[in-house]
Order: sequence, then C-alpha cells, then structure tokens
Amino acid sequence: MAPVLYIVIPCYNEQEVLPITAPMFREKLRTLTEKGKIAEESRVLFVNDGSRDRTWEIIEELARSDPHYIGICQSRNRGHQNAVLAGLMEAKDRCDITISIDCDGQDDINAMDEMVDAYLEGCDVVYGVRSSRETDTFFKRFTAQSFYKFLAAMGAEVVYNHADYRLVSARVLKEFANFKEVNLFLRGLIPLVGFKSTSVSYSRAERLAGESHYPLRKMIALAVDGITSLSVKPLQMITGFGVFVALISFIGCLWALITALCGKAVAGWASMTCIVCFVSGVQLICLGIIGEYIGKIYLETKQRPRYIISRRTWEETENPGRNS
Ligand code: UDP
Ligand code: MG
Repeated sequence: MAPVLYIVIPCYNEQEVLPITAPMFREKLRTLTEKGKIAEESRVLFVNDGSRDRTWEIIEELARSDPHYIGICQSRNRGHQNAVLAGLMEAKDRCDITISIDCDGQDDINAMDEMVDAYLEGCDVVYGVRSSRETDTFFKRFTAQSFYKFLAAMGAEVVYNHADYRLVSARVLKEFANFKEVNLFLRGLIPLVGFKSTSVSYSRAERLAGESHYPLRKMIALAVDGITSLSVKPLQMITGFGVFVALISFIGCLWALITALCGKAVAGWASMTCIVCFVSGVQLICLGIIGEYIGKIYLETKQRPRYIISRRTWEETENPGRNS
C-alpha cells in the first residue's frame, strides 16, 4: 500500500510567499499520488510559528479551500527548529513519512520524488543536500559554508550542506520522540537516531518572495546551539589551551628566575601588562564557553514544553471531546 506523506512546512511571517508556494506543494502531492507513490490521504501540514502578519489567516483559508491543506498554530514564535518539531510530532501518528521543507520555495520540491523513491527502496531518512549555492549572495554562501566547517571543527557532525529539507519516516520519528532535549538542533539529532539513510542533491533557488529570517545573528545562535547540543569539544579545547598556557608560564617563570639570578632583572612592565591582559581575556572566553553549557543544562533541567499548539485547522469541524 502506498505510504501516507505529510509535508511539514514551518511558516513565520510568510504572507507574501505562502499563496505562491502552497499550490506548488499541493501540486506535488497530486503528481505523487497519481504516480501511485503516496496515498490519497497525504497532506500539506503548515506550522504557523506565531506569525504577526496574515500567515495564519491564509493557512485557514487554504484549509477551507482544500482538505489536503491542514495547519497548526504555535501559541507564539518559538523559532524554526521548534516549529519543525511541532509539525513532525503532530504528523508522526497520522502518516508513514514526513518531508520537512521551508515555505519560501528555495528548496527544489522536485527532489521529493527522489526522496519518496529512496523511502520506497528502504531508506528511513533521506537528507536533501544542496548541490550548489550559486543563487545565494556571496555573503550568505560564505557564512553558510563557514557554519558547516566550524561545526565540524568543533566536533558537531552534521551532513554537509544539508539544512532542514529531509524525509523522515514515522518509525524514526517515534524513536526521535524519546529525545527530550529542549536545545534543539534537528539536523544534528536526526542522524543520531540511526536507521538506513541516504541523501538526494538539489540546487537551491532564490526565495520566491518575502525576506530571510536567518540573519547572521540567528545563524551564529544556531551554530552555538548545534555545537553545544552535539559536542563537548570546546570544553576539552579549554583544558588543552589551559595546559598550553601553563607550559608557557612555566618557561616564563624559568626565564624570569634566570634573569633575576644573573642580576639582570628588567623593568618589564609592558610585557607583564600584555600577558595579564591576554590571559584574563582568555579566561573570560573560557568562562563564557563553560557558561554557555551551564545555561543549556539549566534550560534542560526545567523540562519546559518545546512547543505549544494553540489552534488546529481541523479542530473547528471535529470539535473533539467537547460537550460530550
Ligand atoms: N521560520 C520559522 N520561525 C522563525 C524563523 C523562520 O518557522 O522564527 C521558517 C520560515 O518561515 C521558513 C523557514 O523557517 O519557512 C526558513 O526561514 P528562512 O527562509 O527565512 O531562512 P533562510 O532560508 O534564509 O536560511
Ligand atoms: Mg529560506
């Protein structure tokens, strides 16, 4: 029997692009259904991430116009990763496979055919990997590539050039539901679940409308989340650096002792100041890194919910449990 596919799409202030891309996703469902690769019960699931514009109204209109569109609404903006998670967790009990994709049309939806094929051939996870970034600006390309290289150098293994465009089977999602961490970095966590995986490459296009919500500041925040979520290498590097500085200090002490013994004690004010400034700077950075991890532990211990769904497009008609 053909699998039921849910396309999970996070949307944050996307009123410009949603009316353009929503029919494209719907069309993709139609062609895949016609080819017999997915079941008729497949859906396009929008996750409204607390948008301040008309995004949710547009999703509701879409849901009214065609039952293949459904939507959930987060109670407030929680960020892209949490929005995707909310959608995946909502979908996992209703379908066999999910494909998460951004709603701006940047990721080539035609790669979905290959993803579904790979699933039908037995893969549970299929990563969408960008083959080229020619349409990105030089700055975006440079920062994005530095992002992946920096993550790898810090011990956070991620699939190179893979963002959050991927097929994940419900089987994997049910296991993934046991990963309770609040500090979410999906592209690093999904590989940890295991199961057979492969990747499909596609070329990334420009945003069809609207603006990116991932400025440099958010990319750095995502990189820090990724590293602290997947690796303790920075903490080990601090230890290594501490040993290195201690070694240098030891040599410095020897040198000071020898010059003092030779009666050539120098008025080394400048060099002392430099050393003190440098070492205190390094100490503060180290404390900052440790603080980053402690902050993450603090958030994890609270075990707050990772997403809160305030509305669903299908609640209005089904009205489950009420007046009964
Ligand atoms: N997004 C979201 N919550 C946010 C920011 C972004 O759900 O707080 C969604 C956004 O609507 C889009 C996807 O995440 O579907 C990727 O965002 P964007 O296209 O702005 O990032 P870029 O592709 O430029 O990295
Ligand atoms: Mg985008």
